[in-house]
Amino acid sequence: MENPILKITSLHKSFGANEVLKGIDLNVTKGQLVFMIGPSGSGKSTLLRCCNRLEEPSSGSILVDQEDITAAGADLNRIRQNIGMVFQHFNLYRHMSVLDNVTLALRKVQKLSKEEANTRGLDALKRVGLLEKASAFPDQLSGGQQQRVGIARSLALRPKVVLFDEPTSALDPELVGDVLKVMRELKDDGMTMVVVSHEMGFARAAADHVVFMDAGKIVEQGTPQQIFGAPTHARTQSFLARMS
Ligand code: ADP
Ligand code: MG
Repeated sequence: MENPILKITSLHKSFGANEVLKGIDLNVTKGQLVFMIGPSGSGKSTLLRCCNRLEEPSSGSILVDQEDITAAGADLNRIRQNIGMVFQHFNLYRHMSVLDNVTLALRKVQKLSKEEANTRGLDALKRVGLLEKASAFPDQLSGGQQQRVGIARSLALRPKVVLFDEPTSALDPELVGDVLKVMRELKDDGMTMVVVSHEMGFARAAADHVVFMDAGKIVEQGTPQQIFGAPTHARTQSFLARMS
């Protein structure tokens, strides 16, 4: 079998006495879209944040394309280049143009020339349908457009996998569709993605695999048809009943 792009093994994370991740095992293969659901506080964000070392795992391992990112001396810059992250709040710099936001890490961290960074940045903006907004400022964009800039910012680093943490939760309902459409296009282009979201319609249409987390554990996982159509665990059933 093909080596997974992301391989999480026995991942534990505690904050003080609070064990938030209680042994997570998850493999994501190239081009897969894994969709994660679960109640608030179940550990979804912590899991994603451990994958690019925004949080330090307490134990366990995380391999990205066979490189152990939890190893002592792992290169955090390179890890964050390989694993893109898209957050609920896009945190764009308001005083910088869209293109400068997208190329900031390329210039400052990867030390690309301005010309090379701009070429990559424009390419990323094109992928999210915002080429014509390159010189606009974030305040001139809708929330949905700002989130697409956030996605372009991660794509510009040419990551091996992109993690999305509730990318549409802060958006007005009419703006959600555009962001999901961009995510769908990325998936169709072969991008490997892990998506935490409440957008079950998107999951049914685009996810290869659905994972249900509760209280720091993966309780159940399977195809969208299995998880949404015939969940076997009582906790999955009651969660989905509350969502619909
Ligand atoms: P979810 O994203 O599924 O809602 P989180 O991963 O955000 O869950 O949170 C899981 C648990 O970890 C919660 O109990 C939360 O309070 C706790 N937690 C998250 N981040 C921190 C932190 N930086 N310090 C202490 N506790 C945290
Ligand atoms: Mg969360």
